[in-house]
Amino acid sequence: MIRMAGVDKYFGQLHVLRDINIEVPSGQVVVVLGPSGSGKSTLCRAINRLEPINSGTIEVDGKPLPAEGKALAGLRADVGMVFQQFNLFSHKTIVDNVTLAPVKVRKQSAAEAKKAAMALLDRVGIANQAEKYPAQLSGGQQQRAAIARALAMQPKVMLFDEPTSALDPEMVQEVLDTMAGLAKDGMTMLVVTHEMGFARRAAHRVVFMADGEIVEDSTPNEFFTAPKSDRAKDFLGKIL
Ligand code: ATP
Ligand code: MG
Repeated sequence: MIRMAGVDKYFGQLHVLRDINIEVPSGQVVVVLGPSGSGKSTLCRAINRLEPINSGTIEVDGKPLPAEGKALAGLRADVGMVFQQFNLFSHKTIVDNVTLAPVKVRKQSAAEAKKAAMALLDRVGIANQAEKYPAQLSGGQQQRAAIARALAMQPKVMLFDEPTSALDPEMVQEVLDTMAGLAKDGMTMLVVTHEMGFARRAAHRVVFMADGEIVEDSTPNEFFTAPKSDRAKDFLGKIL
């Protein structure tokens, strides 16, 4: 479960998150949509404290977000994050990318971590790429490796910030299918994406942001067939 209540965030004078209230119940998928600069990435980054907030509260799995220190490291381990850029370690093999944090942070043995990593790579459909280096994989395969790496920490929730935006079109679907599979298995997910097909298919709710505010929070069906605000109508008119 992720819960944000009354969250405000400024970059200097710029008010980028305005009284954000959002809830992602356990096992549900919330898709966040909105124009460029509306605050979607900042919202994601606030959830694991990559960005500090100015006011409000954020809870993950019923626990308030600690501001710093050991507790913060523990909380970050509960929040898996996948970005537009895959950020894999280029000098490590795919399987080593996946085992790194579990061994270092979760104190798993090398053998235990490798067994778990191979199972995860199999789950995202790239077990046969395990011994390769990131540059030897396609973009879609690299992003699936990044998803496996995040899952290896056994996170309670997963955040995705435009995970398919940097991919060639023919690779988008394999990553969306992997995400849909995760959703089906009951992962709690907050997903920033422009992929409307995914939003319709996998989201329990759609949150539409503009200028740092949540303008609509509705079911996918409501949002796509009967958006209430002019800003959402305008946005959908441009994107669909
Ligand atoms: P996009 O769809 O382009 O990724 P976004 O909805 O993710 O946009 P954010 O990246 O969250 O938007 O940015 C929200 C606002 O905050 C924008 O006006 C942006 O310019 C500003 N901003 C983001 N990061 C910083 C920063 N580190 N310092 C100052 N301003 C920032
Ligand atoms: Mg962004």
